[in-house]
Amino acid sequence: MKKIITLIATAAITASMMVGCGKSASPTDANSTDKAASKKEIKVGVALYKFDDTFISTVRQALEKRAEEKGKESGDKITINAVDGQGQQATQNDQVDTFITQKYDVIAVNMVDRTAASVIIDKAKKANIPVVFFNREPVKEDMAKWDKMFYVGAKAEESGTMQGQIIADYWKKHPEADKNKDGKIQYVMLEGEPGHQDAILRTKHSIKALEDAGIKVEKLASDTANWQRAQGQEKMAAWLSSFNNKIEVVFANNDDMALGAIEALKAAGYFKDGKFLPVVGVDATAPALDSLKAGQMLGTVLNDAKNQGNAILDTAYSLAKGEDTAKTIKGITDGKYLWVPYQPVTKETMDKIK
Ligand code: BGC
Ligand code: CA
Repeated sequence: MKKIITLIATAAITASMMVGCGKSASPTDANSTDKAASKKEIKVGVALYKFDDTFISTVRQALEKRAEEKGKESGDKITINAVDGQGQQATQNDQVDTFITQKYDVIAVNMVDRTAASVIIDKAKKANIPVVFFNREPVKEDMAKWDKMFYVGAKAEESGTMQGQIIADYWKKHPEADKNKDGKIQYVMLEGEPGHQDAILRTKHSIKALEDAGIKVEKLASDTANWQRAQGQEKMAAWLSSFNNKIEVVFANNDDMALGAIEALKAAGYFKDGKFLPVVGVDATAPALDSLKAGQMLGTVLNDAKNQGNAILDTAYSLAKGEDTAKTIKGITDGKYLWVPYQPVTKETMDKIK
């Protein structure tokens, strides 16, 4: 099986290299040579951990849109080739290898396994092709390996804190939310993929924000639902039957899982006849905003896909042009990090975003 895959991959690479040769092998056409000199084609390889992720697909759309705008602005031809890692690090490594063999100008990587970045870094460094990581943050030691490397993301602890503050506000205004009148929040937590910085830090800081606001908490249950709606729904349905009426608050590390929990709650008779349970997510995806509007999801936090997509493309473009990124890219911290701020969102404030 492995052999077959290698063979196919080799064939694909060879075929695309031949296409590459075809393009540059027209020196007889003076006109096209002139054009090539003034208008450079910039090839950006984009390796996504998985296409089938609501948030990541909005980042991809933003990035592609920005590439189009930037192309018009600068007169450069910017080509984006986005590939699907399908949740397999080995697949993603092969895809990055192909970008390198095909001499892409820059590579943007949304790691499948964020602890495995060094393999990619070593290869890119050897080929002198800059890398922009995003959304799944490589560990500090890996980020220190080379200087033509950036990370675009958002500070996960910030989103957790905002989730906790949304719940704290609600709790203070709604004494009836303390169903068993013990002065504590009995909560459940739907976690993202194990090991993802956003899962770890949102879980921690959402609860810390409640404690900082002087609110006592009791965890009834927490489990991973891997960022996925269906898994969120399944876990929530199980908790509803084991804890019955004891759950007072539902935290979810992202909107897809929060929406899954809301499905399970609906099936148990919530969100009608005055039966309500506060659910908070993160991302502010379109379906989450619809849910806020319908008075179901209590709150979310904008994970700014548009500005993250813009920052990834702008950084990639600048690196591909060999510019001094310290001068061309605003807001870089520690030499290689670009942090896009989060924003709390509730039904009352949702019109202010997007
Ligand atoms: C988002 C999740 C998404 C994950 C993918 C997180 O920042 O909040 O919705 O599934 O990134 O890595
Ligand atoms: Ca209580």
